[in-house]
Amino acid sequence: MFFPTHLFIAVLIGRARFPTVWVVFGAALPDLVDKPLAMAGVVQTYHTVVHSALFGAVFAVALLLAWSTERGPSVGVVVATLVGWGSHLGADALHITLNGRPENTVFLIWPVVETWDSIDAGPGPFILQYAGTTSFYLEVVIWVCGGYLLLRDGPAGGVLGRS
Ligand SMILES: [Zn+2]
Repeated sequence: MFFPTHLFIAVLIGRARFPTVWVVFGAALPDLVDKPLAMAGVVQTYHTVVHSALFGAVFAVALLLAWSTERGPSVGVVVATLVGWGSHLGADALHITLNGRPENTVFLIWPVVETWDSIDAGPGPFILQYAGTTSFYLEVVIWVCGGYLLLRDGPAGGVLGRS
């Protein structure tokens, strides 16, 4: 999915449930780390280190260790970051499956499986090959429906304004 859609999904998830900025931070991490790594030639595809569920296990332990320290993040920050990160992986796996490449969801177990038949399109070529696909239209629906919810209920999901 497009990077802004990951952030938008994070905003929708965070509304009145989690500290939204941390959900957005978690949702941004996979692309902020993995895409530069691939563009620099450090890894072979755009879904590797931080797109791996195995990284998630290490990440969760690291966050929980930080939480357990005196000056560590709150449990809300830890959960929000992990929820945002998980939303990114789930959305990418859904996008790849909807676009007819379910076998490529093996990115979730990188580095156990390091290579697959990836389209390996950089950000520019990706936009061109992605426009008009099933997942592209799903993103349009997410923006329209999510935008409607934000306009109708406000960023806090209407919870703050209810009596
Ligand atoms: Zn991604």
